[in-house]
Amino acid sequence: MDNKLMLMIPGPTPVPEAALLAMAKHPMGHRSKEFDAIFAECTENLKWLHQTSGDVLSLTVSGTGAMEAGIINFLSAGDRVLVGTNGKFGERWAEVAVAYGLNAEIIKAEWGQPLNPEDFREKLEADTEKQIKAVIVTHSETSTGVLNDLETINRHVKAHGEALIMVDAVTSLGAVSVPMEAWGLDVIASGSQKAYMIPPGLGFVAVSPKAWKAYKTATLPRYYLDLGKYSKDAAKNTTPFTPPVNMFFALQASLQMMKAEGLENVFARHRRLMTTTRAAVKALGLPLFAADGAASPAITSVMPPASVDAQKVRTLMRKKFDIALADGQDHLKGKIFRIGHLGFVCDRDILAAISALEVVLQELGHEGCTPGAGIAAAAKELAGS
Ligand SMILES: *Cc1c(COP(=O)(O)O)cnc(C)c1O
Repeated sequence: MDNKLMLMIPGPTPVPEAALLAMAKHPMGHRSKEFDAIFAECTENLKWLHQTSGDVLSLTVSGTGAMEAGIINFLSAGDRVLVGTNGKFGERWAEVAVAYGLNAEIIKAEWGQPLNPEDFREKLEADTEKQIKAVIVTHSETSTGVLNDLETINRHVKAHGEALIMVDAVTSLGAVSVPMEAWGLDVIASGSQKAYMIPPGLGFVAVSPKAWKAYKTATLPRYYLDLGKYSKDAAKNTTPFTPPVNMFFALQASLQMMKAEGLENVFARHRRLMTTTRAAVKALGLPLFAADGAASPAITSVMPPASVDAQKVRTLMRKKFDIALADGQDHLKGKIFRIGHLGFVCDRDILAAISALEVVLQELGHEGCTPGAGIAAAAKELAGS
């Protein structure tokens, strides 16, 4: 059936009608009073979402561009940086660091495991000469469904005193609390197609006063992604280059929706989507890829037993039910499937996805559960909340 596709991938995520309709307008001039007002409202609400009174800058990039901007504006070639990698995105930031000639030291954990904050503490405590300029961490590692312990890692960075903390919050911001100011986070990158509930096309970088100090002496090349330009213009409610004006119409609408729901309710919803999905998947006899204590509220990764082909699960979910699930990445391709529950997703969507999964598992001859067990577990989880 046409127009029934249900996106349960971790980006792009579903877009609410209010945002879609807001976009369906003629573009307006980006040097107009009307646009300045929309831009100003968006900037104000972005600060609310980031729990900061500092700069939150909007760039015409995907999440990777936002993160690259966040890395290159505050560092110089040869700078020593620690990069946490326990999945595809952590590895990407190590590649960016290397591409820009940074002296990147990798702090690694296996895919599916969280980063160990102690590994950061050891390196940071040993650095008595304060040569570590930045610690780069992916908060919610989308490739595996692991939520790293940003709060503890950041505490060790704060104890070091010099190093900046740069966070890929692309699938955590708007799903779990990332209190920028309270924790003293320096750089936070995110992208529109995730918890923001709007299409791909905008990237966001939040910058602390401490990072702006580093900006003054940082010498990596920058032009289009020179955040100083964006900050200077944002103070006048404008942008250095032509912004995707229709995306701002959508952003305005989606941020209004988030504000109406309330930040704590948004986080509680994502927690509930996570616990419901995980309870149901467990009841279906399918192993979860990330442990309970380290699970991302944005995405649940499932590693079915050898008797169930993960690729076939995704193919049948799509073919029979128009539900799109995500594949594994790199060496996990075809081995896991990932259920995105990020952004414009409600309890009903999880119930639908779990019911569909039950049908697909029966069709594939999965014998690890009694029919209905997944939905029973999900219902129990939701009835209590
Ligand atoms: C989606 C995502 C990104 C950004 O990817 P783009 O394709 O560049 O938007 C970065 N980090 C994480 C953890 C992500 O999930």
